[in-house]
Amino acid sequence: MDFAFSPEEEAFRNEVAAFLEKEVPLEYREKRLTFFDMSAQHDWIQVHRRMAGKMGEKGWLSIHWPREYSGQGVSPFYRLILREELARYHSPGYDSIGCGIVAPALLLKGNDAQKKRHLPGIASGKVMWCETLSEPNHGSDLAAIEVFAREEADCFIVNGQKIWTTNGHFADWNALIARTDREASPNYRGLTFFLLDMKTPGITVNPVVNIAGHHEFNEVFFEDVSIPKENIVGDLNKGWYVVMSLLDYERTTDTVYAIAATYLSDLAEYARENDLLNPVVERRFAELEAECEIAHLLHYRVTWMQSKGMVPNYESAMSKMYSFELHQRISEFGMEVAGPFSQLTADSDKAPMFGRIPSCYLRSFGYSLEQGTSEIDRDVIAQRGLGLPRLR
Ligand SMILES: Cc1cc2nc3c(=O)[nH]c(=O)nc-3n(C[C@H](O)[C@H](O)[C@H](O)COP(=O)(O)OP(=O)(O)OC[C@H]3O[C@@H](n4cnc5c(N)ncnc54)[C@H](O)[C@@H]3O)c2cc1C
Repeated sequence: MDFAFSPEEEAFRNEVAAFLEKEVPLEYREKRLTFFDMSAQHDWIQVHRRMAGKMGEKGWLSIHWPREYSGQGVSPFYRLILREELARYHSPGYDSIGCGIVAPALLLKGNDAQKKRHLPGIASGKVMWCETLSEPNHGSDLAAIEVFAREEADCFIVNGQKIWTTNGHFADWNALIARTDREASPNYRGLTFFLLDMKTPGITVNPVVNIAGHHEFNEVFFEDVSIPKENIVGDLNKGWYVVMSLLDYERTTDTVYAIAATYLSDLAEYARENDLLNPVVERRFAELEAECEIAHLLHYRVTWMQSKGMVPNYESAMSKMYSFELHQRISEFGMEVAGPFSQLTADSDKAPMFGRIPSCYLRSFGYSLEQGTSEIDRDVIAQRGLGLPRLR
C-alpha cells in the first residue's frame, strides 16, 4: 500500500499553502481558530465568503468534479489536501454543505438542468448552502419528518419548521427534505427532496446560539413557501434515496482529524511553554497523537474508496464517529492540561490560547450529534460493517 502523495498532489499542496499564507487574516492564524470556533469572530461570514470566492476563482472548490461541471477531473485527494491545508492555516472559506454535500448529491442524483443551474455557483464559492433536514421532533428518525409540501399546479407550497440549520442565517440556497405524502407506508416513501432559494417569501430564520455562545445554527420556519416543481431532485416521494446518498457524503467531507491534530499540537506547545508537562500528561499526549493518526488513516481510506468510484458507507460512519469523538477527547484533555486557567474565556487577557480551550470544550458536545449521531453511526457500522442484526 502506497501512502505517499504524487508529485502533482504535493505541488498542489504547496500552491494552496502559499496562497493561504498570503490570504488568511493574521488574526485567524494568530488565534489558531478552527472551523468549529471561528464563527465567534465578528467578521467570520465576510472572511468565509471572501476566501470561498478566491478559492472558487482558482477552481479549487470543484477541482475533483467532472470536467463538464466546472471540475478538473482529478482525484478527491485534491479536495482532502485543500481541506487539510485550510485546517493547518486556520482558514474559513470551504462551504462544507454546498461543496461537501449538495454538489456530490446533485452530481449523483440531480438532472442535467439542475447540475447546470447550481454547480457553477457552488464551484465559484459565491453561492452558499444550508440543509434543512432536522425538525424539533425528528432528528435521528428522519423518515418521520412533518414539514409538509402541498402540490399545486406548477409548484409545491411548504409549511412547517426545521431546526439546527447550520449557516441558515446567510445561506443563499437550501437543500430541503419535506413530506409530500402523509399516507405513505413505510413513511420514508412519502418524502421529497427540494432545492429552495432562501430569498423566497415566507421563510423566517431565527438564530439558535450554541452552548459555547456561537451562532452557527438556526431554526427555520416556512409559511406558504412556494417551490417550483423543477426544483425537485430525484422523483416525487423518492427524496429518501437522495438524503441517504447525501448523508454518505456528509460523513466524509469534514477533515475533523486534521483540525483535531492541529489543536492537539497547539495544546502540546502551550503545555511545553508553560511548564505544564509531567509524565502522565506527556503519555496522554502520546496516546492522543496515535489516535489522530488512526483518524487520519480512516479518513484516507474513505477518500481512497471515493477515488476508485466506490461509495463508502459504514467506512464513512466509522471515520466520522472516530474523528469527532477524538476531537471531543482532545477538547476534554485541553481542560485538564490548562487546569484552573482552562475556564478563562476570550474576554480575559489571562486566558490561555486566546480562550480557545473552554470554547473548543463546550463546542465539542455537539460533535457526537451533528451529521447524524454517534449512536446512529455505531448502528451503521454494526449492521452494514459487521452484518449484525438490527435490534431496534
Ligand atoms: C452542531 C450541529 C449542527 C447541525 N447542523 C444541522 C444542519 O445543518 N441541518 C440539519 O438538518 N440538522 C443539523 N443538525 C442536527 C443533527 O443532525 C441532529 O441533532 C441529529 O440528527 C440528532 O437528532 P436530534 O437532535 O433530534 O436527537 P434525537 O434523534 O432525538 O436523539 C437524541 C439521543 O437519542 C439517541 N438516539 C436516537 N435514536 C436512536 C436509535 N435509533 N438508536 C440509538 N440511539 C438513538 C441519539 O443518538 C441521541 O443521543 C446539527 C446538529 C448539531 C449539534
